[in-house]
Amino acid sequence: MVKGSKQAVTHARVVIVGTGFAGLGMAIQMKKEGQTDFIVLEKAGDVGGTWRDNNYPGCACDVQSHLYSFSFEPNPNWTRMFAPQPEIWNYLREVTDKHGLRPFIRFNSGLQKAVWDESAHLWRITTSDGAELTANVLISGMGGLSRAAYPNIKGLETFKGKSFHSQDWAHDYDLKGKRVAVIGTGASAIQFVPKVQKQAAHIDLYQRTPPWIMPKPDREITDSERKLFKRFPATQRAFRSAIYWMLESRVAGFVINPRLMKVVERVARSHIRKQIKDPVLRAKVTPDYTIGCKRVLISDDYYPALASSNVDVITTGIQEVRANSIVTTDGVEREIDTLIFGTGFHATDPLPTGMVYGENGVDIMDAWKNGAEAYKGTTVNGFPNLFLIVGPNVGLGHSSMVYMIESQIAYVLDALKLMEKKNIKSLDVKAEPQAAYNRDIQKQLDGAIWSVGGCNSWYIDPKSGKNVTLWPGFTWAFRRKLRKFDADAYVRRA
Ligand SMILES: Cc1cc2nc3c(=O)[nH]c(=O)nc-3n(C[C@H](O)[C@H](O)[C@H](O)COP(=O)(O)OP(=O)(O)OC[C@H]3O[C@@H](n4cnc5c(N)ncnc54)[C@H](O)[C@@H]3O)c2cc1C
Repeated sequence: MVKGSKQAVTHARVVIVGTGFAGLGMAIQMKKEGQTDFIVLEKAGDVGGTWRDNNYPGCACDVQSHLYSFSFEPNPNWTRMFAPQPEIWNYLREVTDKHGLRPFIRFNSGLQKAVWDESAHLWRITTSDGAELTANVLISGMGGLSRAAYPNIKGLETFKGKSFHSQDWAHDYDLKGKRVAVIGTGASAIQFVPKVQKQAAHIDLYQRTPPWIMPKPDREITDSERKLFKRFPATQRAFRSAIYWMLESRVAGFVINPRLMKVVERVARSHIRKQIKDPVLRAKVTPDYTIGCKRVLISDDYYPALASSNVDVITTGIQEVRANSIVTTDGVEREIDTLIFGTGFHATDPLPTGMVYGENGVDIMDAWKNGAEAYKGTTVNGFPNLFLIVGPNVGLGHSSMVYMIESQIAYVLDALKLMEKKNIKSLDVKAEPQAAYNRDIQKQLDGAIWSVGGCNSWYIDPKSGKNVTLWPGFTWAFRRKLRKFDADAYVRRA
């Protein structure tokens, strides 16, 4: 409690925000180090982040579960190569309980505002449930893909039917017999459209850009395999390692020599040919950009769903939404009962405006008006003692985000230890190392597949035209950069 304040203000050395892989992983590692002076803020009522919020039909990871999980918490019980959402959410809840994290978490308590107090070297925090806190260190695990994005379409607010975003699936709403419009054909849509197709009377699928889709190497993990993993954990480690290196080899095409992606493109084209007979539909779903420029997706049931008689793929732009219909720019009006947004997330703004204020009261979003950037994806000049897990340019197009998250956690943990050992009150990354780091990142991105032929995607910040989302290289190279906290890059105040 801070003396002299009107209201009770709780102090913790560290406040962590979020209980997805990032927030939970950070809390677990702190606890393992015996650092228990921390509070975790979670705006929702349970842990799980992405895997709590995204529970639409068909939701599953698209990186093999044996890699898409904590290295220190292997799960021998995954039932499929790509576990469905309930299993991943369950895994995160089990991990939370196993490590006794619940007493540290304040549920339904969202970070509303965090203001850096320069004289006290503290973050002054207010939460959505009216609490006030101070913390020496603020760690954001708020997620790169947690704020739903909606399209800006004329008349959306006039729609009288049922509408929802894939992240807020209306499970109590029966789709049976309904005329459904789906807007968007990204990673979530390709998972839920095949499920909706089986229930709805009809789907109009509004597609702006088709994704490249590869066959999904999914299968059940057999009982005997699971037994083997349980009895001989080394076999599971070997399996994880094999998956890791297999996925890592993709960097060759994404970054080193984008021409290699032609081979991948041939596989994707053949996937379309095998699954879709109608030449008109084939043409509609065949992208006209180099594979890899946008996220490459995997599915075996999406194309067959589109080829069904109750699905129309509409490539003409939407002019407006009316009370019970959608009108396209060619003047055609299609009646609907239900509108589902598969329009993804705000990926290029890692934080909302008006939430985090650093030195001189600067909003981090103003500091990022030319595109978000951080040092090693983690710290931002002018925002002392703030660490962002899954900050700018940490996202991946080819492998597991959990690997990146664990790399960042190790870096932050090292910083916390140093602060304690040397009695450092604040750490602020210097402007020059941050600028140099980002120049280097952007240089690498220039030659990579995401920049080929002016490719545009949700990876690119619309304000600056910069790719502020992806890490352009091998994940082990990122880990190596973050292996040790490099105090020399920081202004340290004792
Ligand atoms: C449908 C879907 C599928 C995906 N599949 C994969 C995959 O297969 N492989 C892969 O590598 N990545 C995948 N991703 C990316 C995925 O988001 C990351 O892998 C990972 O889950 C991110 O974890 P996180 O903890 O950083 O964020 P999140 O899981 O998003 O967690 C953020 C948490 O912070 C909380 N929060 C946010 N704001 C506040 C606030 N102001 N105050 C308090 N709490 C707050 C949220 O409620 C949430 O619990 C997928 C993403 C989606 C949406």
